[in-house]
Amino acid sequence: MRRTRLTLALALVAGSAVVGIPAAATPAQAADGDVIQLVAMNDFHGRISPQSGGDGSLVTATGPDNVYGTSDDVSQTVGGAANIATTLAQIRAGFAPGAANSFFVGAGDLVSASPFNSSVFRDEPTIEVLNALGLDYSSVGNHEFDRGQEELLRISGATDGEASDDVTACEGVTPEVDGCFTNSAGVPFEGADFPYLAANVIDDATGESILPAYEIVTDARGNKVGLIGVVTDDTPNIVSPDGIEGLTFLTEAQGIDQAVTDMQAEDPTVQAIAVMIHEGGTQTTGGYFNGCAGALAGTPIAAINAAITTEVDVIISAHTHVPYNCTLPDSAGNQRLVTQAGFYGKVLSDIRMTVDASGEINRTPVSAGATATNVPVLQGSPDPAIQSIVGYWEGRAAEAGSVPVGSQTADLDRAYRGGAPVRDAESALGNLVADAQLAYARDTDSLGGDDVDVAFMNPGGLRADINCLSTGPADPDGNINFGETFAVQPFSNTVNTVELTGAGIEQVLEQQWATRSGAASFLQLSVAGLTYEFNPAAAAGSRVDPASILIGGQPLVLTQTYLVAANSFLIAGGDSFAAFVSGRPGGATVVTGANDVDAFNAYVAGISPVSPPALDRAVSLDPAQTFDDDGSGAGPCNPPVPTTPGGGGSTPGTPGTPGTQPVANPGNGIAAGNLANTGAATGQLTALGAGLLLAGVVATAAGYRRGRGVTE
Ligand SMILES: [Zn+2]
Repeated sequence: MRRTRLTLALALVAGSAVVGIPAAATPAQAADGDVIQLVAMNDFHGRISPQSGGDGSLVTATGPDNVYGTSDDVSQTVGGAANIATTLAQIRAGFAPGAANSFFVGAGDLVSASPFNSSVFRDEPTIEVLNALGLDYSSVGNHEFDRGQEELLRISGATDGEASDDVTACEGVTPEVDGCFTNSAGVPFEGADFPYLAANVIDDATGESILPAYEIVTDARGNKVGLIGVVTDDTPNIVSPDGIEGLTFLTEAQGIDQAVTDMQAEDPTVQAIAVMIHEGGTQTTGGYFNGCAGALAGTPIAAINAAITTEVDVIISAHTHVPYNCTLPDSAGNQRLVTQAGFYGKVLSDIRMTVDASGEINRTPVSAGATATNVPVLQGSPDPAIQSIVGYWEGRAAEAGSVPVGSQTADLDRAYRGGAPVRDAESALGNLVADAQLAYARDTDSLGGDDVDVAFMNPGGLRADINCLSTGPADPDGNINFGETFAVQPFSNTVNTVELTGAGIEQVLEQQWATRSGAASFLQLSVAGLTYEFNPAAAAGSRVDPASILIGGQPLVLTQTYLVAANSFLIAGGDSFAAFVSGRPGGATVVTGANDVDAFNAYVAGISPVSPPALDRAVSLDPAQTFDDDGSGAGPCNPPVPTTPGGGGSTPGTPGTPGTQPVANPGNGIAAGNLANTGAATGQLTALGAGLLLAGVVATAAGYRRGRGVTE
């Protein structure tokens, strides 16, 4: 049942990246001092194409002041799968023992929360690219569970027949619709060639890990390395509960220690051990991509380093999107390497482990026995074979994404603070999605039709804005296409309904301030059909005045039953909104509806041109806690000046100073790069068929900056 590497993948990497296959008939000659290379990447999130703005740049030098984290820092453009291939080859070219003693490993979140060109094809493009890059092994990340465990097993081709993985690559999907897309070689999806490892994810039915816990790899000289994969034990709090039913997530340390025990029981000669862990830490101010400011103190990965067995020699971490290169003392006081390669393929970690005659890595209080260098993935010489795969999917995505959905009069944005999207404020885009789900559920008899009272939307489910600005020739200013709407909700959730009691609804609102991941945080839900007042200064559990909650304009009755719509993630209690489950009256069951993007598209088409809904549904009683503005301008859209005068005597506006404006995150992953900004103008929205005349101001793209310390 186990699949072998694709012939294509072998051909693409021939000469540089065929790894993990010892040269046939060469006797093992492992020796004291042999160096083994691991090249590591994490949190790629399907960034197969180069990204623009902050997502595609990396601070690589201090500037004149010799200090990182200051305004004269020097950035370079980085990333893109074809550039990763080039950087990987360069890293290996600098490794004297050669590629046969080198392994390319991942630490999770390689797929999902990805741009349109990967996501709309269920991230099969990213898997094809990773296969062609010759990725050998990866831990799973929390995002590998976004579409549920069956989907993870579907894409995990290399483990078919192993562990719990009896699902094949085209099983349970409709080819070319929701999976099993024809790849760049003209054949249907065949799954990942690399095993995903998940030592701490236990299938309750078998008591075993859902995917292999570890792999023992042997280099060309006969040196053995044990590779273990684990994922953050916070995963059940941040993925849809439906998708992980029947799974138990052990702590990371439990998973690692058990895997070491099992691995050494299987083969006691495995002494060099590396862990790929989808959990991480952060640097303090002044840190840079190859630094270790603050020594990760107080972060999850520091606690895990202190807790796990001293048998582990190297920790390759992830999840926080912060690159670092650290050595931390283990519980015996010996140094241990702890790395992370940032995110989106901006950096690769080049890790060198030196083994002694017994195959062990000699770690002491002063030496980790292994070293690492984080290497920026600079652009400039993209690998043509990988580029051709990426180009194939970009072409398909452009076609799929260009389908028009509707039009807009202004930017439809998430909430912003300081230029970055935040999740603790009401947003126009969130309200629009909630409106769409309420309208869709009311239009759908099986979901309750006219009886549906309220819709809720989680802020973390909004992954991009819908900007006025053109994303390319097929998307004039003010146009909304499928690529844009898909980027907003890329997780393929469904819109569902369930009954909640009035008390349950009140609890849901209070749980906006729940303790998540050990820290109190405010995740403000978007609501439709509901208004309320809240006092953020009040005690937890009584921040929402029940008397202020109006449903359809009527006061909430705590004992009454209401019909509530939300996406499948939230309605199952995702993001610690447990009251979506505990607040149901006895016997209430969830009814499943259509895909969330489809529901949104239908709504947008019906009400176009879309204007941003007002931010007046949740009213804070604390004047110090007023809502932030979206931060990217309220519109209106800046419509294009018609290039060909229409026959109807249209009066084109006066274009301002043309120019280009770098857009940090164009939102749909299709047209990264500089987008045209025609400056202040008035004009006619001819492409939208409505003949709508708008007074224009400069539409600025939403800024997007990823802060330190996020967990994704
Ligand atoms: Zn993650």
